[in-house]
Amino acid sequence: MGATGCGKSKLSVDLSIACGYEAEIINSDKMQLYRGLDISTNKISIPERRGVRHHLLGDLDPADGELTPADFRDLAGAAVADIASRGKLPVVVGGSNSFIYSLLVDRFHPGSDVFYGSGPEDRVSPQLRYDCCFLWIDVAFPVLCDYLCRRVDEMVETGMMEEMADFYSSESWPGRTGLLKSIGVPELEWYYKMGGWDTVRRSVYEDAVRKIKENTCRLAERQVGKIMRLKSGGWDLHRVDSTDVFRERLRAEDEAEEEEVWEKEVMDPSVKIVKQFLQE
Ligand code: ATP
Repeated sequence: MGATGCGKSKLSVDLSIACGYEAEIINSDKMQLYRGLDISTNKISIPERRGVRHHLLGDLDPADGELTPADFRDLAGAAVADIASRGKLPVVVGGSNSFIYSLLVDRFHPGSDVFYGSGPEDRVSPQLRYDCCFLWIDVAFPVLCDYLCRRVDEMVETGMMEEMADFYSSESWPGRTGLLKSIGVPELEWYYKMGGWDTVRRSVYEDAVRKIKENTCRLAERQVGKIMRLKSGGWDLHRVDSTDVFRERLRAEDEAEEEEVWEKEVMDPSVKIVKQFLQE
């Protein structure tokens, strides 16, 4: 678990390889479930998956509509059962905490809202339907935010705008409801709808990129709020602090040094926690 950009995908693959069991990963990011917008939704690439099988990653058609938490419980629950039936270890990774909650809780009430509701059914239940080991990668918010803004610039450099142009060039885009809320889609709608008028268009573009950065940082803040709510509701989350990894990334861009900090600050404590859980 963790905010967008904090390194969940990398940790899930590193751990799947290091834990001593054959593991398979189930995505729990509600935007990454769908086909398309791979750069904008920051899906882990095939080489980065390093041969570890992923489920519910880009498998759904965005034209089939938004998945509810109850739908996710069914789909991801079936993936857990399938992986376990083959004697392997299911690893759930992604930033959609409402989906993680619906998947794992023992009794899920489809109408409940544990993050914003205040009724009796909206209380976080600590009773889970599986034996779980939770890892929460946390990064000090100002450091994460600096990195997220840089990540948006990198996404633009690697083709986010071309990907969005493709999305908006298809006449059927309004029907791809699964992806309409993905960060970048609403922010860039006006830009892709307007033609000509170069200086105005340029300022609309710059404004959209600024909003994408702002909304990404807001998403990260909301995600951490939700994780803390689960923790205070009795979920036994192990917090692993990855701030130094991000400081190193922002400071030096030296991959070897960053990897060293990652191993020491994130991987080693995570492996210890998971191994202990698997031995219990
Ligand atoms: P909410 O109650 O806001 O639906 P949630 O926990 O159900 O929260 P989140 O995963 O936090 O779901 O996603 C909320 C919103 O954040 C999405 O609707 C989308 O706008 C944006 N978002 C989440 N993940 C991504 C992603 N990978 N790429 C782009 N946008 C994303």
